[in-house]
Order: sequence, then structure tokens, then C-alpha cells
Amino acid sequence: MHLPFDNSYARLSQAFHAHVLPTPVAAPRLLKLNRALALELGLDPEWLASPEGVEMLAGNRMPAQAEPIAAVYAGHQFGHFSPELGDGRAILLGEIVIDGKRRDLQLKGSGPTPFSRRGDGRAALGPVLREYILSEAMFALGIPTTRALAAVATGETVARETAQPGGVLTRIASSHVRIGTFQYFAARGEMDNVRELADHVIARHYPHLGDAAEPYAGLLEAVVTRQALLVAQWLLVGFIHGVMNTDNMSISGETIDYGPCAFMEAYDPGAVFSAIDRQGRYAYSSQPSIAQWNLARLAECLMPLFTAQDEAVTRANEALATFKSVFQTAYLGGLRAKLGLLSAEPGDGALALDLFERMAANKADFTLVFRRLSDCAETPAADAQIRSLFEDPTAFDGFAETWRARLALEGGAPAERAAAMRRVNPAYIPRNHRVEAAIEAAVVRNDLSVFEDLVAVLAHPYDEQPAHIAYQQPAQPQERVTRTFCGT
Ligand code: AMP
Ligand code: MG
Repeated sequence: MHLPFDNSYARLSQAFHAHVLPTPVAAPRLLKLNRALALELGLDPEWLASPEGVEMLAGNRMPAQAEPIAAVYAGHQFGHFSPELGDGRAILLGEIVIDGKRRDLQLKGSGPTPFSRRGDGRAALGPVLREYILSEAMFALGIPTTRALAAVATGETVARETAQPGGVLTRIASSHVRIGTFQYFAARGEMDNVRELADHVIARHYPHLGDAAEPYAGLLEAVVTRQALLVAQWLLVGFIHGVMNTDNMSISGETIDYGPCAFMEAYDPGAVFSAIDRQGRYAYSSQPSIAQWNLARLAECLMPLFTAQDEAVTRANEALATFKSVFQTAYLGGLRAKLGLLSAEPGDGALALDLFERMAANKADFTLVFRRLSDCAETPAADAQIRSLFEDPTAFDGFAETWRARLALEGGAPAERAAAMRRVNPAYIPRNHRVEAAIEAAVVRNDLSVFEDLVAVLAHPYDEQPAHIAYQQPAQPQERVTRTFCGT
């Protein structure tokens, strides 16, 4: 077995990782292979689906060039600092470099590591399939994210509240370095390791900073920018991450850790789904300020490395302050596109806010309002469809009047505007009840067809897909999912 691994993270100092082999599982069975992603990685999908390939995806056999490691990290979990977390149930097999892009291939649920603490190192199949669905949906929406290459059933059970079938997810990420990775070393006062990590991250994700006079201040600024852009994109599709702990925020700016996340249905800025988020710390509309809080923790790690120490605090604060402007520009720009506005006018933010207030007061479905608005931009005859999304349909009319007056200011062909709006307002998001139904069919009835169908629909979120209109519909009251659980 030969995989073209080049393992830059394994080459870092010993302090960064523990060498550990996955623990073999009883009866690996491939449930899903992401063939398109395999090809993108230069891997042969036929080989991956072969018994030998599946043995690798289950952790039963390692390819020659794999250097399996579990990485150390720390993190603020719900505001409290845990100095030692680390990959407790994930093992990095190696990195694949193709077309100048380096990506981690990691097994999640592959057995205990030195960082498992009281955990079993395993994953239940349900959360594995959940991450597969959600992360691939996120990718199809055009939002930076880790990816899912494969889902394997282990043939073993894991003990959760009840005994559950086990699974292993193969996760692909541009790296697995988190804010918490920096925190691990900074909290121990190991500034040489912080520097080594920062240099690794700069070479890997921000190579333009290689020759900068203040590379580490530049790194902070670059991560601030990427995370501000990421959170803006989350808000624009109604995504709630659910566990924005510093160990779950990637330095590369990709969405990572699909535990109790959810896409909201009825618009509610205070929406919280995660069963473990009892205080609502990571509510939908709190995500920008939480990201900033997390980035301030990264700043604390990096500041001691700044060249000009007398200006370090000022530089760090300046970098952190850019979050607001980068986020605002991306978010407002995104809202304009969702509303079909080509130009920028001072009242656009207020126009969007007015719509959001009406949506919140009338429990209107976030995704469908914008999708139907795209139709309304083409013909007022479509208004009936969107009005019915509001408890009081007249709530839409007040907005529609201002909106149409604003559209009239800029002209443009209605059909073209509608088409542009449909490219940013998805018709299909992973609705919670659909995700639950797919998992239930797979886990309880061993029927993967529901999962397959859902994954196929979500791969083209911006297309109309007339045969799959039902997937656009929000949950009926009896189907509604109000709590999501993380993978542990
Ligand atoms: P998460 O909530 O998934 O971000 O995980 C937080 C920490 O708990 C990480 O260090 C994980 O590696 C660890 N962890 C979660 N589930 C398990 C498990 N089943 N076995 C061992 N460690 C786990
Ligand atoms: Mg995590």
C-alpha cells in the first residue's frame, strides 16, 4: 500500500504529538466514499473502496508512508481553560500534497490516544454520518470547511447513553492546527514551541508572511481576517456552530468540528441548538463576538513573539480590531447579494434589519425567505409564496414595498437579478429533521438510501432540483428538532 504522504506535522518537535497507531476494529464496512474528493486528492476511489482501502479507512492497516500521530492542544471550553485536550479520538495518518495544496488525512473514532482522558477514543456511527452530511453540505455551499472522505462502520458497539454502532470518519483538512494548539504551548510558557508552531502555520497557510518584518503580528491579522470572513458566511446561511471553543476554531479559517451544530429554520437571532450549550454562549448572533473573544486568546499567545515588544499590545489590538470591519464588510456585502442589490447604499443595512425583524416576529424560515425573495425579484406574482412563510403574511408587504423601491433605483434585468440571487440563496440546507431521518435509517434500520439521497441533494444547494422540492421544506411541528447532541 503506497500513499503519497508527506508529514510536515510529524516532523515538528516531539512536544507537538504522540506517535500512536489506530486500534483495529472487528468488521470494517465502507458505508460511504466521497469519490469526487478522492480524485481531488489524487487517490484512486477503486482502491479506497477495495478491502485493502477500507482497512486503511478503518484504521486496521497503515499505508507504508503513514506516520500516525495524535496532536496535542488545549482550549477554552465554554469559557473555561483546559490545559490538556489533544486528539483524544482522532489520529492523523499523514498529509497529501497535490496541486500545491497540503491536506491532512485524519481518522476520527479510531481508538484511544494518550489524550483520550476518560474517553474511549471511539465515535458512534450517528455523529460520523452527521459530520459527513454537514461538512459536505458546507463545502457545497461554498464555505471553507474540513471535508469528509469516507464513513466506515466498525462492526463494534460503543457505549454511550445506550450501546451504539461505532463508526470512523476520514476527515480531510488543510490542517488541524487550532487556536488551542497555540494555547497549549503558551500556557506552559514554551515560547520556542509557540514560535515553531507559528512558523509551521505561516509556511503552510500564510506563506506571504514569510519575509514580513512582523510575521507573528501578520499571522494574527491573517487569522483574524479568515475567521471574520468565515463567521460572516455562517451567518449568511443561518449556521450555528454550537461549540465555538478555542480548540474548535481552525487557524486556517475552515469550519471544523461538526458536533451539535445546526442550520436554523425559523429566523431567531438567539437560536441555540446544542444540548451542551446550556447558557446559550454560542447562540447564532453571538458568533461574531465569540470569534473575537477566541482571537483575543490567540493574540495572547502570539504577542510575546512580536519583534517590537514596546508596541506589541497596540499591534495586537489593531489586529483584533480589524475583525469588526472585515466582518461587517463581508456580512453587509453578503446581505446585499442575498437581497439582490448590486450597488451599495447607506440604508441597505437597515433594509436587511427590517426584514430580519419581520422574519423573527413571524417565525419565517430563514432559507426559504431568501430563496423565495429571489423569485419575487423576477415577478411580483411570486409574492404569495413568500408571504405564506410569515405567520402574518402582511408582515412581508411592508418590507416588499421598501425593497422594490430600492431595487428600482438600480435598474437591471429582473431575470438576471433573480439568477444572481439564486446563486447566493440556497434552496437546500441540511435541515435537522432530514439529517436525523438519514441517521436513523442508517443506524437503526441499516438503510443508507435516505443518507445517500440527502447527500446527493445537498451537493447542489443552489440548483432548483424539481424532483426534490420536498427537501426544501422546513420540519413540520412534530418533526422539529430543537436540540442537537455532540459526537462524544
Ligand atoms: P469536542 O467536543 O469533540 O471538540 O472534543 C473535546 C475534546 O474531547 C477533544 O480533546 C477530543 O479529542 C476529546 N474527545 C471527545 N470525544 C472523545 C472520545 N470518545 N474519546 C476520547 N476523547 C474524546
Ligand atoms: Mg473538537
